Amino acid sequence: AHLADGAPGLAHPPEMSLRVDVLLPRRLQSALAYTTPDPELVPGDFVAVPLGKREEIGCVWDAAEVVMARLPADLAFPPPKPVDPSRLRPVSRRIDAPGLPETLRCFVDWVSAYTLAPQGMVLAMAMRGWTPAPPKSVRLWRLASPGHPPKLTAARQKVLDAASAKPMSIKALAEKAGVSPAVISACIKLNLLEAAPAEPAFRDEAIKVPQPPTLSASQETIARSLRDIVRKQQFEAILLEGVTGSGKTEVYLEAVQECLTLERQSLVLLPEIALSTQWISRFTRRFGFAPLVWHSSMGDGHRRRVWQHVRSGAPCVVVGARSALFLPFTDLGLIIVDEEHEPAFKQEEGVIYHGRDMAVLRARQATVPVMLVSATPSLETLANVQAGRYRHLVLPDRHAGAALPDVRALDMRLAPPSRGQFLSPTLLSACRETLARGEQAMLFLNRRGYAPLTLCRQCGHRIECPKCTAWLVEHRAQRRMVCHHCEYTMPIPTQCPSCAATESLVPVGPGIERVTEEVQRELAGVRILVMSSDSLVSAEAARIAVTQIAQQEVDLIIGTQLVAKGWHFPHLTLVGVVDADLGLNGGDLRAAERTVQLLQQVGGRAGREARPGTVLLQTYLPDHPAMKALVSQDFHHFMTQEAANRRPGFWPPFGRLAALIVSAGTPESADALARALSDMAPKGEGLEVLGPAPAPLTKLRGRHRRRLLLRTRKGIAVQPLLRLWLQKLRLKSDQKIVVDIDPVSF
Ligand code: ADP
Ligand code: ZN
Repeated sequence: AHLADGAPGLAHPPEMSLRVDVLLPRRLQSALAYTTPDPELVPGDFVAVPLGKREEIGCVWDAAEVVMARLPADLAFPPPKPVDPSRLRPVSRRIDAPGLPETLRCFVDWVSAYTLAPQGMVLAMAMRGWTPAPPKSVRLWRLASPGHPPKLTAARQKVLDAASAKPMSIKALAEKAGVSPAVISACIKLNLLEAAPAEPAFRDEAIKVPQPPTLSASQETIARSLRDIVRKQQFEAILLEGVTGSGKTEVYLEAVQECLTLERQSLVLLPEIALSTQWISRFTRRFGFAPLVWHSSMGDGHRRRVWQHVRSGAPCVVVGARSALFLPFTDLGLIIVDEEHEPAFKQEEGVIYHGRDMAVLRARQATVPVMLVSATPSLETLANVQAGRYRHLVLPDRHAGAALPDVRALDMRLAPPSRGQFLSPTLLSACRETLARGEQAMLFLNRRGYAPLTLCRQCGHRIECPKCTAWLVEHRAQRRMVCHHCEYTMPIPTQCPSCAATESLVPVGPGIERVTEEVQRELAGVRILVMSSDSLVSAEAARIAVTQIAQQEVDLIIGTQLVAKGWHFPHLTLVGVVDADLGLNGGDLRAAERTVQLLQQVGGRAGREARPGTVLLQTYLPDHPAMKALVSQDFHHFMTQEAANRRPGFWPPFGRLAALIVSAGTPESADALARALSDMAPKGEGLEVLGPAPAPLTKLRGRHRRRLLLRTRKGIAVQPLLRLWLQKLRLKSDQKIVVDIDPVSF
């Protein structure tokens, strides 16, 4: 009966060919099928394969059935149709390099199934830093614990004299002892030398004496819990909450220490890692060695070293941006997400995913603990705590008796500043008094450039980006008008582009450059430092800025949201928020939550040591719940209100949301696609499709955008609904749909 299945008359090829699935790091929905004669090729191996006329490097992937079986039921989808085996091309060759670990392949599958991003694009993130020729790792040897050494030759005795507890390479040891490397090998065979365990950092980084802090009683209690959790090596999610300056970082570093003691790998995610020089030097002081740093602006060589180190399974601490989740950890023991509420953890382009949520998933897959850390946790995380899914640990007070700053709202309606001015007399005199006491002040305005809008006084024309629905922002320092959404820039016009009037263009509203000008005018002689992504372009620039502040070469800092990020400036006692209402405009569901989190974090920079801090919020909405929460510093009361607002409508986290961003080359094409989507929208109990509506940026980079939102009750699987829905559509070449599961801003 079996014979009937085969193709009669077709001789078997001399070499048996096996089918093998290979995933390529490009926009491919799933792995492609190839053949190989090599029975030892296994999932995770890297191979070169033909693709069209070229050769590409990909990763041998698990068979579709395996992929589906390891996805949860509501994320699994029908595997692609099998291909005719006779049409398959053979794999060109296997690449001799360590493969992609299974835990990472599972993670890639999961992220792709969850976000609906093509699997190949997710693999591309996991291969960032991969290299076909791994640098040879040099093993280090040290003196074995003394037993009864056999009678030694003179040469071998020289080796033992030269060796010490400090590990050395064979080459170095041979040089020091003045013998040939063969003698060293002989000593190794005789167990006179032993291999040193890999060090928890790059070997060329000097190891200094670690300086762990002495924890306070309440810190120690929490640290003990965290250490116990790490020792268990099970999946558990923990929210570590504590006001700014309470020592959360010190405490979670204890968990990292415990993980190192277990000789396992830890991952710490930070929202703005590129500038986290303070964090890195603090870590280095605490542990005596530097962490492995991972973010998108690191060079290729550095990335390869980190990738290889992590892949080797040697103990280490990686501190990185969300993309570090895709590193090939083979012995992961702990994940920490610092500032877990930060919107910066959401990746909005390419594979659209939330770093915090995917960190929890990664930890679950690796069966290790994950710790989410924040002074102002997200409502999502608080809901998980309430539901009993996450453990909640709280640090109650600022360290060493430092008081929380005194927060006051300045009602700008009472004394609006005159035109072109943005700092109230109260804020200005508070700055003067602070500086007179020899302390530092900070002004926060989350807007780069000189002015957000340039207007013609003659004809009312507003200077807009030709490619986006956005005003061009004047950047006076660069002498350009800049779009903050695309790369478009142009010189500052000398006459109105519409009516050609000269000297009719006026700036409207403040950007930090304009506030800087005002400070220079009002507080003569003050030494100002501007901190924005325009001025802090590199880690080195950030390091210099931090040093200048610490050494009090600066009196007043003016910055955008960059200044909120975890900095510790001992002499800073006054924080002034120029426009506290800025984030409340627009219809974003999380506008109030975000405003409270951001401004509380900014305010948390004030008075972190002995001298008390003050925070002044300039607002036209002093009665807004966000302002009241900031002034009363009752974050939990505010979040309870937020929850009550969202629960009835099943808004996240009490329901689920997915956004479909439709874009096309013309408005008509975008409308047509949005309508087609809307006509085919899924229907059913507990789900609702909102829109189509113009997307928040109706035009972006020349593309016209519409948006639909799918909102469902909890427990309804969103991905299968979306797959079915999108499958039915035929897109024209100019049309595109981007799916954003759990959108953070809309
Ligand atoms: P958080 O992360 O909660 O904002 P940090 O861990 O950054 O708090 O601590 C705030 C400041 O207090 C830091 O400068 C830190 O070094 C210091 N600090 C916290 N706990 C201790 C401690 N037990 N001993 C010494 N300094 C501490
Ligand atoms: Zn633009």
